[in-house]
Amino acid sequence: MRKCDVLVIGGGPGGLAAACAARKAGAEKVIVLERDKKAGGILNQCIHDGFGLIRYKQALTGPEYADRAIHEALEVGAEILVSRHVSSIRDNGPDGFTVSVYTKDGIEEYRTKSIVLATGCRERTRGNISIPGSRPAGVYTAGVAQNLVNVRNVMIGKRVVILGSGDIGLIMARRLTLEGAKVLAIAEIMAQPTGLARNIEQCVYEFGIPLYVRTTVSKIIGHRKLEAVELSDLDDKGNPIPETARLIECDALVLSVGLIPENEVAQTAGVHIMPNNTVDTDRYLQTSVKGVFSCGNSRHVMDLADYVSEQGEMAGRNAAHLIRGEEMETWDEEKTNCMKKGFPDEGTITCTICPNGCQVKWDEKTDIFTGNKCLRGRKFAVQERTAPMRTITTTVKSAGGRELLPVRSEGAVGRDYVRQIVNSLKDVTAGSDLHIGDEVCRIAYGDGKECGIKLTAE
Ligand SMILES: Cc1cc2nc3c(=O)[nH]c(=O)nc-3n(C[C@H](O)[C@H](O)[C@H](O)COP(=O)(O)OP(=O)(O)OC[C@H]3O[C@@H](n4cnc5c(N)ncnc54)[C@H](O)[C@@H]3O)c2cc1C
Ligand code: SF4
Repeated sequence: MRKCDVLVIGGGPGGLAAACAARKAGAEKVIVLERDKKAGGILNQCIHDGFGLIRYKQALTGPEYADRAIHEALEVGAEILVSRHVSSIRDNGPDGFTVSVYTKDGIEEYRTKSIVLATGCRERTRGNISIPGSRPAGVYTAGVAQNLVNVRNVMIGKRVVILGSGDIGLIMARRLTLEGAKVLAIAEIMAQPTGLARNIEQCVYEFGIPLYVRTTVSKIIGHRKLEAVELSDLDDKGNPIPETARLIECDALVLSVGLIPENEVAQTAGVHIMPNNTVDTDRYLQTSVKGVFSCGNSRHVMDLADYVSEQGEMAGRNAAHLIRGEEMETWDEEKTNCMKKGFPDEGTITCTICPNGCQVKWDEKTDIFTGNKCLRGRKFAVQERTAPMRTITTTVKSAGGRELLPVRSEGAVGRDYVRQIVNSLKDVTAGSDLHIGDEVCRIAYGDGKECGIKLTAE
């Protein structure tokens, strides 16, 4: 049996930040247990950029963010053990906890003084929302679609409908479009999209994808494979209006209808779980079981990885403070609510430099900009009006492997060249001896321009 001071369950951004912070706060032996074969959590399949704007003041891709978090934890001496599925926690009172873990070689046990739960969340499925109709192949959750398209090189369909306008669905709408699919509709039951304004702007409007609010998929049609979905407008009570029903022929339906905190392991420790599966913690992020802390999406689903990391840090520090008999720190629940969600305001430009997503308005007569909380927003709005630029994030084939590798452009390129460059990269295979940050190739585009393409994960 191995012993430690703080045991972190889950190696996503929350768990990695918790481990790093626990070590820095004086916990001597800190171990992270991750069930996947690689730490990093869901970030490993999020190849787009925009992560780390708050924490690292840079727009990183998901794999780049994960890589930094892994290195930070390792550098301070935390141990990260992968391919370890935690199955249960036994509370031994003053003697701490015994944690049972499945590995490919059998069961391991760990004895720890405190625990940080960072097990993330899972997606709501068709079963959770009960869409009427048949049960053909071709219905995916957004995260599964993201994994298939971004990692496994499996294109899910050519004509796609997306149900739900959360950020993962919006980001997949852009990704599928760039991969050559036609996204025919995004249907949202609420009166406003639920994703960030920046994603509505850059993933939906920019690609001309129709977004219908107060609308749902009222029927799924298809014998073995999906053939069509029926869309219907909703009345004031949220019921489909039969006269508005229309058929859309499609071969893939992507569900982006919410996330559920994953807390089966927490339950084995007797942690109090709320009816919506979130974890009931105090302001120190400690659960109903003394010595067990919770952070990130397993505690309460959060919009940004940056905030997950910040919360993970506090949970890790408090776990260390508790066993050292020190005063714990309090989490400010309000700090994560500053971002602009839903439709962008009319006639504005959504600033995407930081997650606030300020709605910047330009008065042509006076040349005055309003709505930007800082000067960077003005500069961004001027650039957007004159020559919008985008960083390209996509994938290339890996040498000899069936999986894809994520890449990004060295800098931003003119928005109008994005499709051309992504298409050129479909024929590129990365060399087998490349590491993160290495150049995979150079792509010529436009009128004699060229940009370097770099690997963002190995
Ligand atoms: C499909 C999807 C796409 C997303 N896209 C974005 C995005 O583009 N931008 C953004 O900012 N946020 C995005 N998010 C939100 C995202 O969840 C957070 O940004 C962040 O990754 C959450 O971190 P976490 O550490 O709480 O959970 P996760 O990243 O989910 O990590 C949890 C880890 O715990 C492990 N685990 C779970 N149970 C066990 C167990 N029993 N034993 C051992 N290990 C276990 C899992 O394997 C996983 O690695 C996305 C979420 C999902 C589900
Ligand atoms: S204007 Fe400033 S605060 Fe607002 S989104 Fe842009 S960078 Fe962020």
